[in-house]
This record gives sequence, C-alpha cells and structure tokens, in this order.
Amino acid sequence: MENNAEFEHKISVLGSTGSIGTQTLAIAREYKGIVIEALSAHSNIDLLEKQAREFKPKTVCVTDEKGAKELKIRLADTNTKVLSGKDGLIGAACEKNAKTIVTAVVGISGLEPTIEAIKAKKNIALANKETLVTGGHIVTRLARENGVKILPVDSEHSAIFQSLEGCRSKNEIKRILLTASGGPFFGKKRDDLRNITPKQALKHPNWNMGAKVTIDSSTLVNKGLEVIEARWLFDTQNIKVLIHRQSVVHSMVEFIDNGIIAQLGAPDMRLPIQYALTYPSRLKMKGNELDLIDYSPLTFEEPDTNTFSALDLAYDALKKGGGAPAVFNGADEAAVEMFLNGKISYLDIADAIAAAMDAIKTREDPSLDEILETDRAAKEFVRRHYIS
Ligand code: NDP
Ligand code: MG
Repeated sequence: MENNAEFEHKISVLGSTGSIGTQTLAIAREYKGIVIEALSAHSNIDLLEKQAREFKPKTVCVTDEKGAKELKIRLADTNTKVLSGKDGLIGAACEKNAKTIVTAVVGISGLEPTIEAIKAKKNIALANKETLVTGGHIVTRLARENGVKILPVDSEHSAIFQSLEGCRSKNEIKRILLTASGGPFFGKKRDDLRNITPKQALKHPNWNMGAKVTIDSSTLVNKGLEVIEARWLFDTQNIKVLIHRQSVVHSMVEFIDNGIIAQLGAPDMRLPIQYALTYPSRLKMKGNELDLIDYSPLTFEEPDTNTFSALDLAYDALKKGGGAPAVFNGADEAAVEMFLNGKISYLDIADAIAAAMDAIKTREDPSLDEILETDRAAKEFVRRHYIS
C-alpha cells in the first residue's frame, strides 16, 4: 500500500461532527480511497451539511428529530438521504456498502448501532468505549459469531493491539500496562479539587477531545472505562494503570518472559484512527513525527486513587461484572452532564458513581434490554440523588 492507488475502503462514521469524527474525515480527505457511505451527528447540522456536500454519503442521520427535519430541507438538492433518531442511527450503521463503521458517538448511544452493524457483518473501528464497557459480553460474542473485527481507535488500545501483533498465544501475556496522562489535576489532592469549574476541567494538557471524554480524563473515569474496554478487547483482567505524563508511550504489553513491548507516537489521534482503517497496512502520515528528545525524560508513576477514586470504582465494576460496568458508566454520564451544567461539584462526580454502584442491583449476564434499563436507572438515580 506504499503507493495508495489501489487502496479502497468504504466506511461510515457515526459521530462525524465530533473530535474523532472530524479527524476521521481529515484522513478520508487525505486518502481518496477511503469512501464515506454514511455520516451522523446529534444536532450540529451546519457541520453535517458541509460534510455531506463534501463527501457525498448515501445516508446521513441526525439523532435530534428537529435537526433532521431542517437538514432534509437543506440537502434536498443532493442525493443524500436524511434519517433521524435512534432508528436512523442504526440505519446509518447498517448502510449497505460500508465495510467498516467508525463508532465515534459519545456515551451508551453507541451500543445499539454497533450491535446492529456487527449483525450486518460490518467491521467496527471502535472509538466509543462505552459500547464495550456496557455491553462487552454481547458485542464480543456477536463479533465472533459474525466473523467481524473490532479494531480499537482509542490510542491506548490501539497501542496494545499493535504491541500484540506477532503474539501467538494469550498465555504468553503477563499483563497489560495501560498508560494515563493523569489529566489537568495530576498531583492535586482531594481538598484542592473542591472548587474546580467545568472550564478548568475541560483543559486537557495533551489531547484535544470532546467535552465528556475530557472531563472523564480529569477524574480518571476515562482510564477506568479503558480498563474495562481493554478487558473485552484483549480478554484479560490483568491490567495495570501507569501515569505517564507525556502521552508518548500509548500503552504496553508485558509478556511472561518479562519483556515489554510498547507503541510510541506523538499525542495525535489520527494515527490510531488511520491504523484501524488501514490495518494490517500502514499509510504515510504528515505532521505527527515524534522526536523523543523533545519529550525526554519519559516518566511513569502509580495513580493516586485516594484523590481520583473513580479508578478504583471501575476496577470494582470490572470485578463484579454483569451489569455493574453499566451502572459505573451511566452514573458517570449523568454526573458529567450535571457538572457541566453547574448542578453538582467536581468531586460529586466520583461520589455519585460510588453511590449509584451501592444502590443499584444488577444481573450477572444482562441482556441488551437489561443493560439499557440499568443505564436508565443509574442516570435517574444520580439526577434524583442531587436534586432532592
Ligand atoms: P465529541 O463530543 O467530540 O463528539 C461526539 C459525536 O457524537 C458528535 O458527532 C455528536 O454530534 C454525536 N453525539 C452526541 N450525542 C449523541 C447522542 N446522544 N446520540 C448520537 N450521537 C451523539 O466526542 P469525541 O469525538 O471526543 O468522542 C467520541 C467517542 O470516542 C467517545 O466515546 C470517546 O470516549 C471516544 N474517544 C475519544 C477520543 C478523542 O480524542 N476525542 C480518544 C479516544 C476515545 P453533535 O456534534 O451534533 O453533538
Ligand atoms: Mg484513550
């Protein structure tokens, strides 16, 4: 694939107006062989309209019904079909000619379209970690049954995936070393975090991401979600988190002979996104060269789970299994929204997750409906807990 003339890959991008979505389209702009079959947004129809006119997908979906109506009028002069709502998102995920679906929507809204895309035999380039956190047992089983690949887009999981290439047996893996930047409040103690504002928490030192994942990075909820995501992608619970402030070593695998293989790169999501789309080949990329001298020294530390208690809660959810990770995720989604709207304090986020995990009973092997019900219950619990 050195010259990319014969490279062709038909994809759909769910969440194309977000951080991962727009970076995916930047790669498609660079490589004409990446053909866009469907796109989706929640409400940003201005950007979705521009994307539709540029990439000429067969289908776009706006999950917000009002926005969908408006976009339908605006795109009336094109051949692009406009779908709406949850069913529309599933329609976009199942668009006939797409081989791979990039799941870059935020939150549990990614779960059902991903499941339906797998049933339609699409490969999944998975950014939406909440899908595996809440429904990992269903998604991985369906992927096996339908013979489709789940290719990680999350930078840490892409690094682990790349580090495992050539590994012939799962028994040779000792553990996964999952790196974390530590976020903007690294080194602070609980007392220092009492009055943190959304503006402060939305400032990530190394990555430019959507609001929810940025807040999650600052609380280490994101790392907790990633531990659970890694459990499903790599079928091991032996996962250790290391704080690595420079975000250059994207993660590592330690093998039984104590050798460690890592993947390094500049903090730039385009590499893991592109690799998920071109795997097992690699394509040239401009502007993300890594000069290790610039980042020297590379450091590794234990996470401070007294201050960032959400990480331990994620390990509890992982150990408990079943519907527990859906409680962890749903409570966090509701709490982050409330924090961003000024309704709860920063420290309330982790406390809300802990309270929801104590209060909500879950099943061992939940069905999709039970997962969605657990998600609703966790969100409702957090909203009520703080309003009353
Ligand atoms: P953004 O918030 O930037 O984008 C989210 C996308 O999803 C937008 O297109 C948005 O549409 C759409 N969306 C929002 N709410 C809904 C909903 N309820 N139903 C359907 N679509 C919705 O998020 P990111 O791109 O940062 O993250 C996307 C996913 O990728 C998350 O799961 C995140 O954890 C994961 N991820 C992100 C990384 C990053 O660097 N950003 C790194 C690794 C993983 P609209 O624009 O109209 O609101
Ligand atoms: Mg990540």
